[in-house]
Amino acid sequence: MYESVTNFIDDKLDMSIESLKALCRIPSVAAKNEGLEVAAGLVEMMLQDAGLHTEIHPTSGAPVVTGWLDVGAKRTLLFYDHYDVQPAEPFDLWDSPPFDPEIRDGRLYGRGVADNKGDTVSRIWVLQAFKETRTDLPVNIKFVVEGEEEIGSVHLPEYTEKNTDFITADGGIWEFGGAGIDGKQEAWLGLKGILFVELEVEQLSRNMHSSTACILPSAASRLIWALDSLKDQSSRILIDGFYDDIKPLSQSELEAIKKIDMHEEQLKEVYGIEEYLNGLTGDDLKQAYYGDPTCNICGLTSGYQGKGSMTVLPAKASCKIDFRLVEGMHSDDIYRKLRTHLNNKGFGDVQIPKHDGYPAAKTPVDHPFVKLVERANQRIFGEMIIHPTSPGSGPLYLFNEHVPMVSIGCGDYESKAHSPNESIIIENFRLTMHRLVALIDEMSRW
Ligand SMILES: [Zn+2]
Repeated sequence: MYESVTNFIDDKLDMSIESLKALCRIPSVAAKNEGLEVAAGLVEMMLQDAGLHTEIHPTSGAPVVTGWLDVGAKRTLLFYDHYDVQPAEPFDLWDSPPFDPEIRDGRLYGRGVADNKGDTVSRIWVLQAFKETRTDLPVNIKFVVEGEEEIGSVHLPEYTEKNTDFITADGGIWEFGGAGIDGKQEAWLGLKGILFVELEVEQLSRNMHSSTACILPSAASRLIWALDSLKDQSSRILIDGFYDDIKPLSQSELEAIKKIDMHEEQLKEVYGIEEYLNGLTGDDLKQAYYGDPTCNICGLTSGYQGKGSMTVLPAKASCKIDFRLVEGMHSDDIYRKLRTHLNNKGFGDVQIPKHDGYPAAKTPVDHPFVKLVERANQRIFGEMIIHPTSPGSGPLYLFNEHVPMVSIGCGDYESKAHSPNESIIIENFRLTMHRLVALIDEMSRW
């Protein structure tokens, strides 16, 4: 089926890699607001070359690029991707320049090759292959490619809320995915939500000589006491009502995770731990991974942390906290509960600047589109591991009322997304394009 298309993909693999390298040479770092317009422009050109109609939608931040091809088919397949990347720092830990992609031992190295420019290009290139081989596409296609995924998709709602018709489709492929630790392909059906806040304490007009600690308050101590009230030593979160609205994992999700091998022992070595939190193992470990919210201190700052000693009483202290939210929880509600909790505990003076927040979203494991993706994967890679949700977060909630989404991609366990020496296996890049052709075929018969 579609042999001319897959032959084209194989014969012209060098060209698709060159396309990917070109996109990766643009340092489109959303956190620094760099290269975003240029990357958006190149993505639009690639979509046009592949025969799609395109539009660039300005937002208050980076533009959203859309592409579409309506062939009058019964089914419509949507792709969600992003052209922005994480910063590449620290540069000296890269074995080759992050924004000058290089192939070594069958892997392509560069910032963004895995997250998620490789996926973006592989998906566009499949359509290029249909076009170049004059093969009729049996499904309609839509692309939504944004430029702020790595900074929380802050302005994407400006696009999605006004374009619900466009983001409505029979099935969608989310941005990331790939092979797990055992080489088996994995699909992710959901993403947790997030609430990211800071806690700020100010106790004095300026840092003081630490000898005054006998008569003056310490911002560092006060922050620690406030933090201590948030969760106990078993990591149970103590904010009143925090767990109230959680929708527990469904029966079919529980069955799905029973089939997953967490590689518990092997990963202990990777993490450098003797045991998991609270001694979790087996099904309990899996249920916590997929079904539990978190309250995590990302960083703490106060006083003097430089070389040697400096006896100082810090005037200010602050920390950054992220809460991963599961189905049923809402970031505004959790923020209010956090505020009330700190007030009730006598920490009304602790300021809580809020960065971003959005809810979790999931596609049901027994949705027909999920089965279809599994069949397509079976044809190319074999068995697929189905994760009911990722423990990470993303703006899936903007889409999931309009389209069932599954996240699969060309990454792998060693891809090091967000880290130095990010890479993909070129053979996976090629085969994910074959899988997409199989998916289009399966979808046309749905
Ligand atoms: Zn990322």
